[in-house]
Amino acid sequence: MSTDKTAPGADKHAAMLAKIRRDVELRQNSYRERALKMFPHVCASCSREFAGKRLPELTVHHKDGNHQNNPNDGSNWELLCIYCHDHEHEKYKLQGLVDNFTQPAAPAVARMANPFEKLGDLLKPKPDKPA
Ligand SMILES: [Zn+2]
Ligand SMILES: [Zn+2]
Repeated sequence: MSTDKTAPGADKHAAMLAKIRRDVELRQNSYRERALKMFPHVCASCSREFAGKRLPELTVHHKDGNHQNNPNDGSNWELLCIYCHDHEHEKYKLQGLVDNFTQPAAPAVARMANPFEKLGDLLKPKPDKPA
């Protein structure tokens, strides 16, 4: 531990950093609380109601998949029960697979082009080669 008096700003700076870190953590952890206050406690997918003891089964889904994106108006949130939430993410995974399949395989073609060019050079007759 440093008790260095020559740098009076260091402690303040550290405290500020700790506060910012705490704020960020708080903000990330509280989006569920905020969403639960904002929306009726109903699964957006299966329309079941979750109250009292069952409330923990209701989770916050981020529509764009980015858990850091928590706008104050709740536009990126959707309340989903744990079952529908699982299903929602399965759908995303499948969508990702489809996207990968439809991507053009250009790099593979480029890799194939060079070896054949070299092969063509090797097959060329070399007239200056002594017989
Ligand atoms: Zn549901
Ligand atoms: Zn989700």
